[in-house]
Amino acid sequence: MAQEITTNQLRKWLLAYAARIIENEDHLTELDTAIGDADHGVNMRRGMGKLQERLRDEGHSEDVSAFLRSVAMTLISGVGGAAGPLYGTFFLRAATSPTNGSSIDLEQLTQMFRYGLDGLQQRGKAQADDKTMIDTIQPAVEAMEAALAAHQSAAVVLAAARQAAHLGMKHTIEIEARKGRASYLGPHSIGHQDPGATSAYFLFETAAEVFTITGAD
Ligand code: ADP
Ligand code: MG
Repeated sequence: MAQEITTNQLRKWLLAYAARIIENEDHLTELDTAIGDADHGVNMRRGMGKLQERLRDEGHSEDVSAFLRSVAMTLISGVGGAAGPLYGTFFLRAATSPTNGSSIDLEQLTQMFRYGLDGLQQRGKAQADDKTMIDTIQPAVEAMEAALAAHQSAAVVLAAARQAAHLGMKHTIEIEARKGRASYLGPHSIGHQDPGATSAYFLFETAAEVFTITGAD
């Protein structure tokens, strides 16, 4: 891949993410029907529709921070439920991470996810193993940081993130919810995959797909 990820590549990533969520709306609904109130698919689809409109608009900023802030605002107003403010906070905090203006390098991409994760945790107060989107995002960020520290290529860093995110998502099946609506079910939440952990997985799946395309912009 190119040395730097441009705002346009971030835009393509989030368009791919929006499409993946919309394809998986029914799956997200089924998961939230089992341990929540059956609205995660609808919430996310509505927000992703707004995001698609926003990202297809020619008027988006080339500045990475401004772009991520605008994504955050669209998610906060468009998604709803618990997930809207949480994803919004993720991107709002990601927008405060260091950039080179209209692009970010691999280290900055990793930092972007780290800032988002820290913001999400401060906002939602969930820890690992509470059966939330944190169980996907935290291991993914940690895997990126470890691969980066080991001087791996962008493709390897992003593949590590995707794999860790996938394992984290699947791990939510085994554990009891301690945060969010699913926590009302206590031990009955065990055996079901968390909807938010699932929607969050697609962030890393699409990042690995979009950002590894060599020279593409
Ligand atoms: P609601 O719970 O309001 O119906 P959604 O169904 O859209 O909202 O989103 C539910 C998802 O939000 C959960 O599956 C979980 O991953 C995530 N979630 C809930 N509370 C928290 C929290 N405190 N921290 C992180 N994620 C959370
Ligand atoms: Mg719900």
